[in-house]
Amino acid sequence: MNKEKNSPNSKYDDIMNPLLENKLKEELEELERNGLLRTVDDLRFISSTKAIDNDGKEFLVFGTNNYLGLTHHPKVMEASEDASKYGTGSTGSRLTTGASFEARELENNISEFKNTESTLIFNTGYMTNLGVIYALAQENDVIFSDQLNHASIIDGTRISKASVRIYKHKDTSDLENLIKKEIESNNESNNKSNFFIVSDGVFSMDGDIAPLPELAKIADEYNCTLIIDEAHATGVIGKNGKGTVEYYKDKTGIDLNESVDLQIGTLSKALASEGGYVSGKQVYIDYLINKSRPFIFSTALSPSTIASANAALSLLKENSEEYLSNLNENTRLMRNLLNDAGLNVVEGETPIIPIIIGPADLANRFSKKLEKEGILVSSIRPPSVPKDMSRLRLTVMATHTREEIEYTAQKIIELWDVLNR
Ligand SMILES: *Cc1c(COP(=O)(O)O)cnc(C)c1O
Repeated sequence: MNKEKNSPNSKYDDIMNPLLENKLKEELEELERNGLLRTVDDLRFISSTKAIDNDGKEFLVFGTNNYLGLTHHPKVMEASEDASKYGTGSTGSRLTTGASFEARELENNISEFKNTESTLIFNTGYMTNLGVIYALAQENDVIFSDQLNHASIIDGTRISKASVRIYKHKDTSDLENLIKKEIESNNESNNKSNFFIVSDGVFSMDGDIAPLPELAKIADEYNCTLIIDEAHATGVIGKNGKGTVEYYKDKTGIDLNESVDLQIGTLSKALASEGGYVSGKQVYIDYLINKSRPFIFSTALSPSTIASANAALSLLKENSEEYLSNLNENTRLMRNLLNDAGLNVVEGETPIIPIIIGPADLANRFSKKLEKEGILVSSIRPPSVPKDMSRLRLTVMATHTREEIEYTAQKIIELWDVLNR
């Protein structure tokens, strides 16, 4: 192939395949011009709330999913270390040689915590959504999916052979209308489709909570399978951190546990490790073991990874009141400080606190300036959020101190005033 020399200062030199490589390069340059280019910065956590970069500069971190700070709890770290005596890798898929005692133990503990019959671990929350949605929702079926669902749900619906109907965010009358339309067209064509409703429990970008009671009522009335993704809910909402079902039980006294067919979650957020899970009736779990390709064709998680999640879950069970009250108190403090200063904070009650900035480059500049002050907060830009809704997305942890929260709020408020002048 012809070699083409690039401009002398380009990092993409020695082009071998000009047609493709120039196209990619142009797309990257376009992203950069629009303030949308993504790059990876290295970080090392020295505690649950503090990290250093390659130069040893220390940062206070307000952007992790590590809501309870359990990644650095001595018992979780010890569990990880202990389990490494069974080997550093799992050696195979769960269906071959990768089925460790630790995985089974964790599955049982999740089932007990979530009050479900059975649980299956996947390698990530992302893979869980792919693996569950595409295996269960088949040709002629219909998936009804909230407009703001996580990318992994969207991708699951895309690889599934079912049709997909997107309902407006948390708009249950829109959902019901879409279902009624499908029933009509089913009657005309004599199809027998299964219907699925899929929603985040806590939405990852806005931090708001799904209208579970209404979703459950609709699922019941129209015989839909209800799937809730608890990634940002487990360990975060409900008085014992059990998630969306518990949140509504605390609030309304009504137990919706039986109405949710499948709870999906991750081990990578409040549970301080990596991996994903799906929890529900045995028949679903047995089916997934046999039919879900991301489960079947990928090497299982290592004993250490699973043991850390299990230790974090045990700690959560033992200390839920303390952890959740710290998390809620810190959330309220941060939200109040920012609201009192008049910032454009998306209202809510979860520790995901979005501050809407608007243009992507301004959000970027904001987070870069905070970085200079030693504070790490992610700026979230399209395609993760709609155009002109770019934002800072703060997440507060149970292990942040009052001083850390006050300092960070003060710096954000100062910069808000400067950048909006
Ligand atoms: C983070 C997240 C996932 C993905 O989980 P990973 O374990 O990080 O792959 C899935 N769904 C939602 C709603 C999430 O926020």
